[in-house]
Amino acid sequence: MKVTQIPLLRDNYGYLVVCEDTGEAAIVDPSEGEPVLDRIARENVHLGAILNTHHHRDHTGGNTVVLARHHARVYGHRNDQGRIPGLTNPLDEGDEIQVGNLRAQVRFIPGHTNGHVAYLFGHSLFCGDTLFVAGCGRLFEGTAEQMLASLSRLQQLPADTLVYCGHEYTQKNLEFALTLEPNNRKLSEKLERVRALRSQGIATVPSTMAEEIQTNPFLRWDSQEIQATLRKNHALTDTEPVEVFRKIRDLKDHY
Ligand SMILES: [Zn+2]
Ligand SMILES: [Zn+2]
Repeated sequence: MKVTQIPLLRDNYGYLVVCEDTGEAAIVDPSEGEPVLDRIARENVHLGAILNTHHHRDHTGGNTVVLARHHARVYGHRNDQGRIPGLTNPLDEGDEIQVGNLRAQVRFIPGHTNGHVAYLFGHSLFCGDTLFVAGCGRLFEGTAEQMLASLSRLQQLPADTLVYCGHEYTQKNLEFALTLEPNNRKLSEKLERVRALRSQGIATVPSTMAEEIQTNPFLRWDSQEIQATLRKNHALTDTEPVEVFRKIRDLKDHY
């Protein structure tokens, strides 16, 4: 399996996933058409599928242009029927899809929207706007309870799982995370590395689940330091995971 990251729009990433045995490829979240078509041509692959993580325009905006040139299946959650252009294969939790000889498991992870899925190819997770490097998506259609449940499931994936998310938001996410956990060494070290990469325009995605567990505040609702900061500076009284999560999400929305 070969994964090619394609920068799209201002800060989106699409991913071309290629089965190297058969030359069949899938494009995850084509935000726009032309750069995706160019890359498909350059890689000389056969596009079999579009994999949309959710209906937002910055993840589906290229579907129509791509479909005008390639006869491909279009996958997305069944709740997004009518919202994902060209959807042919509505999905649900536990479904499996195939791209050439590659297989991916479908995980239903609502919270950002009520039709959000992730595609798991072996140890490569394509998680759209649910889990970001050091962050998570806003709660546009779902609840804090749903998002916490979705993130908790992703967190249980193997530590070496590669996290291919939908946006390059890492630096700002880490700067926010450090306001909650100023003594987390892994966090300050990662921010230093990320600043160096971004100053050269280099992508900080993918990350690994191990790094996310060490640095992502939205997976760290049990951190003593985060809870202490929230109690002291932000009037948190209830340290139930969902209340800690809700408070962090709310602070990030206004950061
Ligand atoms: Zn979105
Ligand atoms: Zn997005």
